[in-house]
Amino acid sequence: MTTVHRVFNFAAGPAVMPVSVLEQMQRDLLALPGVGISIFEISHRSKAFEAILAQAEADIRTLAGIPSSYRVLFLQGGASLQFSMVPMNLLGAAETADYIDTGSWADKAITEAKKVGGVHVAASTRADGYSRIPSPPEIALTEGAAYVHMTSNNTIEGTEWKTLPSTGSAPLVNDASSDMFSRPIDVRRHALIYAGAQKNMGPAGLTIVIIREDLLERSLARAATLPAMMNYAVHAEHKSLYNTPPAVAVYATGLVMKWLLDQGGLPAIAAINERKAASLYAEIDRTGFYRGTAAKDSRSLMNVTFRLRGDDLERMFVEEATAAGLDGLKGHRAVGGMRASIYNAFPEAGVDALVSFMRDFERRHG
Ligand code: PMP
Repeated sequence: MTTVHRVFNFAAGPAVMPVSVLEQMQRDLLALPGVGISIFEISHRSKAFEAILAQAEADIRTLAGIPSSYRVLFLQGGASLQFSMVPMNLLGAAETADYIDTGSWADKAITEAKKVGGVHVAASTRADGYSRIPSPPEIALTEGAAYVHMTSNNTIEGTEWKTLPSTGSAPLVNDASSDMFSRPIDVRRHALIYAGAQKNMGPAGLTIVIIREDLLERSLARAATLPAMMNYAVHAEHKSLYNTPPAVAVYATGLVMKWLLDQGGLPAIAAINERKAASLYAEIDRTGFYRGTAAKDSRSLMNVTFRLRGDDLERMFVEEATAAGLDGLKGHRAVGGMRASIYNAFPEAGVDALVSFMRDFERRHG
């Protein structure tokens, strides 16, 4: 057997997956046990694939405690397609949707929604460089809004909502791309939750949408003009098999859901995630050599963003870290600095390795 060398992968997504899941995929690559066909080759209309899809959905429902009045859809097009699908399905041209602008991805969602209907930016922290989540009094909602859109974790800026905003009777729509299943999620407080799988749930190519059934009425009402592929009701009616789904990504995500259940579910993984983030933030705050970019009460447990004084030092940090097997620490090109993405599957040993690297780097350059 060859020894496989894996670096610590701090990438923001696609991101690290559980090793046990990758090993199982490797083991079953040539043929799914009892089926004799690889997941790459299997018909999406086969009983075997239907069972894989059904099991993935069942495990997602168990993990997140999803009520039966919600549908779970397995779609493609990434969270970016949801920026369009959400308004195309839920927002009439003469209606207004409220958007809470907490980062670059929220801003992209706003841009797409404006192409469909009225958009009211209910709160924005852009003026503060998106370094924080708005407080409840800052959020000015529209009476009778079609929905309120939020981004529970801002992947680029490293901020995360600690509690959900109150939206009254307006349906809450949440882009949870970078914190889905990293902590317990109160599905009932949402009308729609969406997330690309490639951060916390599996490989790229799959988007999970959890939608409250009554919202499908709005999709049905627009069926004559809405392309079928963009219509939630079409995907719900066909149980995510309207067309060929990304079978490999569905299968891998299903395995990650099993892995999460084996870890003890969302409360257990949340405790681990809190421990990992706390250890990294403690190091950032220890002397002032590093500077966290997010306001303390808004800090993300998934994407830990920090800076050093000067571009040269930051470049050196990333170079030396990469050479030390700590990969993907360069911050998003839009904001610079450093970003350590430490999703569910990111090992605690990797956080420990980064903390000791940071200490050592400070000793040498502080
Ligand atoms: N929303 C958030 C919060 C994200 O982090 C990302 C991807 N980094 C997106 C949306 C866009 O996702 P996708 O690439 O799946 O379209």
